[in-house]
Amino acid sequence: MIKGLFLDIGDTIIMEEEGKSLNEMSGNLVEGAAEFLEEMSRRFQLVIVSNTVNSYAVDIDQLLVKLGLRRYFQHIITSLDVGIAKPEPGIFEEALRVSGLKPGEVIMIGDRVDTDILGANRMNICSVLLRWRDRHPLQLLTQKHKPSFIARSLAEIRDYIDSRT
Ligand SMILES: [Mg+2]
Repeated sequence: MIKGLFLDIGDTIIMEEEGKSLNEMSGNLVEGAAEFLEEMSRRFQLVIVSNTVNSYAVDIDQLLVKLGLRRYFQHIITSLDVGIAKPEPGIFEEALRVSGLKPGEVIMIGDRVDTDILGANRMNICSVLLRWRDRHPLQLLTQKHKPSFIARSLAEIRDYIDSRT
């Protein structure tokens, strides 16, 4: 039974801007993000799992407050705080630990195969690739790079989750 969603931020919730760190970005949301988070937060525990270069959880916290999205998330996990980045298991283990969830109770949603999807698959966490634009190549190098589901929009992910719950 699905109890939680792990979510990447850049190009999953907030549109990434080349060469800028998360707190420098203008904060344009990926289409449908606010509605998606609003609905999902009523049904699941939501946890940010983000690879960051300059941003700590406190910085992401402030960014989400600014965007009116902070209340949807129970926890914010960043690679800078944990010292381990996706696709390494350690950052997912930390997210599972703080949320009290088991791998089989979680869906990881992200836009990158080499970090979000590979990392989730290594942990036996269901992985959903959000591919609303083709910024990163879809390189399904091994079986472990293969998402459980590929979606073109957050609305498609909602439908997928509905079909699984
Ligand atoms: Mg991303």
